[in-house]
Amino acid sequence: MDTEAEIAEIAILGGVGFNSHRDCENIPIKTPFGRITAYLTSIKGRNIAIIPRHVEEIHIPPHRVNYRANIWAVHSLGVKRVISTNSVGSMRGHPVGSFVVLDDFIDFTCSRFSTFYDDKTVHVDVSEPYCPEIRAALRYSLEKKGIAYTEGVYACTEGPRFETRAEIRMMSQFADVVGMTGVPEVVLAKELSLCYASLATVTNQACGMTTQKLTAEEVTEVVGKAQDSIFEILSDAIGKIPETRNCMCRFAKEGACL
Ligand SMILES: [Zn+2]
Repeated sequence: MDTEAEIAEIAILGGVGFNSHRDCENIPIKTPFGRITAYLTSIKGRNIAIIPRHVEEIHIPPHRVNYRANIWAVHSLGVKRVISTNSVGSMRGHPVGSFVVLDDFIDFTCSRFSTFYDDKTVHVDVSEPYCPEIRAALRYSLEKKGIAYTEGVYACTEGPRFETRAEIRMMSQFADVVGMTGVPEVVLAKELSLCYASLATVTNQACGMTTQKLTAEEVTEVVGKAQDSIFEILSDAIGKIPETRNCMCRFAKEGACL
């Protein structure tokens, strides 16, 4: 797919509670996978497209999000870099409200359209799933603000139910945080040779890590409170992303096609 115009340079895919697009110009985008709405704005002199992943009026559940339409849409706007926000449960005791810059993932999803390539075989490279340049920009922004953060591995579950205690015991052997929306989004971005990184907000301790019952309300409440700082972190990071891509993300599909 060739990009015809660069309407936006960077996209933000906003997770639960993301509301920083409210006053932006919205444009409907038709994709082969359905229609979505993008919101256009400018941050630090860069043209930005914001796509709220769950669509606020309906709140699309994680297993029904139209990941292919969202990634196709940002690509059709000319976007080369995607920053995603995700809420996660911690399997390492991270404080609620703290941030994790994702550096790898493990995929436990099972019912989602996870590729653009159903008619030919494309084994896209995900040895570095999250763009090192955007991750560096996110780390710069967090450090500049003196905000504590860690980097870590994301386990993506299918949902929409929360995980069991046994599942968390298993996943905590090899991942740090758990969520439901990061995959296949990151993979689809790779398939279109986009740079993609994620700023995850810890909204709760994962199941069995505390004696408290997990609720969806606490997830929304924590992200709601963190919303302003999430947007400020993203803004500073956007200002720090180099204009020209020097990472390897743009070559993700080289040698991938059979
Ligand atoms: Zn990159």
